[in-house]
Amino acid sequence: MDFRLADEQEILRRTVREFAEAEIRPHVMEWDEAQRFPMELLPKLAALGLTGIQFPEEYGGAAMSAVDYCICIEELARVCPAIALSVAAHNGLCAAHIGLFGNQAQKQRYLTRLLRGEVLGAWGLTEAGAGSDAAGMRTTGVRDGDSWVINGSKSFITHGSIGGVMVVIAVTDRTKGHRGISAFIVEHGTPGMTAGRKENKLGMRASDTSEVVFQACRVPASQLLGEENWGFINTLQVLDAGRIGIAALSVGLAQGAYDAAREYAKQRRQFGQPISAFQAIQWKLADNATRIDAARLLTYRAAHLKDRGRRTTKESSMAKLFASEIAVRAADDCVQIHGGYGFVKDYPAEKYFRDVKLLTIGEGTSEIQRLVIARQLLGQ
Ligand SMILES: Cc1cc2nc3c(=O)[nH]c(=O)nc-3n(C[C@H](O)[C@H](O)[C@H](O)COP(=O)(O)OP(=O)(O)OC[C@H]3O[C@@H](n4cnc5c(N)ncnc54)[C@H](O)[C@@H]3O)c2cc1C
Repeated sequence: MDFRLADEQEILRRTVREFAEAEIRPHVMEWDEAQRFPMELLPKLAALGLTGIQFPEEYGGAAMSAVDYCICIEELARVCPAIALSVAAHNGLCAAHIGLFGNQAQKQRYLTRLLRGEVLGAWGLTEAGAGSDAAGMRTTGVRDGDSWVINGSKSFITHGSIGGVMVVIAVTDRTKGHRGISAFIVEHGTPGMTAGRKENKLGMRASDTSEVVFQACRVPASQLLGEENWGFINTLQVLDAGRIGIAALSVGLAQGAYDAAREYAKQRRQFGQPISAFQAIQWKLADNATRIDAARLLTYRAAHLKDRGRRTTKESSMAKLFASEIAVRAADDCVQIHGGYGFVKDYPAEKYFRDVKLLTIGEGTSEIQRLVIARQLLGQ
């Protein structure tokens, strides 16, 4: 075993960190307050390969590994978790689904545009009445000659209103339960597809989240993604990898909160000394540093196994569960160490505290991760 990153991976970390500090840090609060994903950032992300991190070069990807992917997401999340969430949804959900299950023509037509950052990707599984129980969805895809007609609506969709390409999951054979669900690629602007309400969120506000409505939305039969009725099974595979991304996002957010807390603790003086001299503060820092290390190791293990072609259902869920929950504690301690200054927008603490809660919810809540892990442990 070797716990060190390769030299090229250390260089990758430094490069993404410098990019995030220079191009994202100065605008974090502006984008958060405007609740706007900065489309002007997209070409800059693309220039670094961050819109096609783990994809083959032949489609315009950067051909990096799953561990490299974690490093990129971590470094973005350390500075702005909302931008990291958008990059993770684009890469790890929409592009990943097309990359894994698309045919050659679909990859040429859609993956290349996504990976080059010409469009943002969206991925629609969740509905108002079907979140954790995603297979209980109501949206349907009905075959009509050479087309599929999609009806229904999707909720909480990252890039729902600004995504150029969306993967939509819909029921195609109600009698077959989760084995009767298929995926479709729908282009923004297709008649019958409209962005519904944009969510006004607690955190992750620079990442667009909207409802998407389908009313007799007709797409050519060639837009079926993967085999008919295999959409939900394929989705579980997409989520196995996607959850490693959310784990990395959690590690990065926790690291950002911890770094901010440590710097503040060294500067803030009370009772004639820096607050970092108090054991109560030191223990918080020590506990967080230890938990972040443990979360990073779980995350890299899952990524490392993925790089070796192994199925990572259990390891991805363990990493996502642990990392997201320790990130919540890191963000909470960051506010506590800042005292009253943790409660105001002059310091980054309050934003980490708002952003972090999504991580125990999105791509499967903590309760669902425990369910997935338990099923794997019990061989169900
Ligand atoms: C900012 C944001 C971005 C998102 N982006 C996307 C996206 O791009 N694409 C997409 O498809 N979805 C997206 N989602 C949706 C997200 O994946 C769901 O919100 C999540 O899966 C939970 O579903 P729900 O909100 O319906 O909660 P529910 O499923 O209603 O859960 C409510 C509570 O009940 C618990 N619960 C439910 N079932 C069980 C059970 N069997 N055992 C124990 N407890 C249970 C849950 O853990 C939770 O605590 C996004 C959500 C947000 C907030």
